[in-house]
Amino acid sequence: MAGRPFPVIALEEHYWDAELVSQLTGAEGTRSKPLLDRLYDLGELRLREMDEAGVDIQVLSHGAPSGQKLPADTGPRLVRGVNDRLAAAIAKHPTRFRGFAALPTAAPEAAADELERSVKDLNFVGAMVHGLTNGEFLDLPKYWPIFARAEALDVPIYLHPSFPHPDVTAAYYEDYIDAFPMVIRAAWGYTVETATQAIRLILSGVFDKHPNLKIVIGHMGETLPFLLWRINQALSRPGHDPLDFKGKFKKHFWITTSGNFSTPALQCSIAELGLDRIMFSIDYPFVANKPGVDWIDSLDMGEADKASLASGNARRLLKI
Ligand code: MN
Repeated sequence: MAGRPFPVIALEEHYWDAELVSQLTGAEGTRSKPLLDRLYDLGELRLREMDEAGVDIQVLSHGAPSGQKLPADTGPRLVRGVNDRLAAAIAKHPTRFRGFAALPTAAPEAAADELERSVKDLNFVGAMVHGLTNGEFLDLPKYWPIFARAEALDVPIYLHPSFPHPDVTAAYYEDYIDAFPMVIRAAWGYTVETATQAIRLILSGVFDKHPNLKIVIGHMGETLPFLLWRINQALSRPGHDPLDFKGKFKKHFWITTSGNFSTPALQCSIAELGLDRIMFSIDYPFVANKPGVDWIDSLDMGEADKASLASGNARRLLKI
């Protein structure tokens, strides 16, 4: 915690496992060498860049699409190896790294078992899932065993973006992808996919069945804090079943600042959700550490609030 009276924990910080990536067609694609070097590093380079910026702890997660594009038959075995290798890397630097499990969601019961093994045996603090599982959203009841196990273990599931469904890409974005490849990624497509997944979870009733389920979404809540009033009002109009969308979102969701260091967006999120639901994150190595930590330093907030944002809220949720 160099120069700061509070530690900095970042919890959407990615790496890549070579064996898993070898199973994902085209994953490396046009990624630059400096980015690939950082994705595959869980040692010296990563720690040096954490130290330079003042990040005390990274909660590590595999980058998208992680286990979500693996088949149901071979996915569970492969993902066990991924999580075991991550745990071994964390064990080399146990004061600097913690872990979110990868899950083979195409096999929901196996994914639930892997979550339990990752938390109980590997000391992971939850799991991260990335976008659609072979084209499906996770609110479908067949995936609820994963949420049931997360609730029982009292660990959060982090809903991370991945690419839009191919039909959505074709209908909405295709004519702009060549000129603006980020339009289906961090610029917009990722946000729509992840916000839709969050909304569908609330519509599905999974939080009625699992009243203590905890969900994390990144990127300052994927636009949902800004839209909370309107979504809630529209779903509450006469003739519609009362859902209490806003109440469910505020009860079950935490958000992070990953890749979205906007002070107005933070202010809106604090006003809608309360500061205790917002956790600092960077999205390393897709986003550099230093601008994120510098942003925290620049915020016009009291020191206690800044400490909650930088690490206190994450410590409470993740029991770090
Ligand atoms: Mn990310």
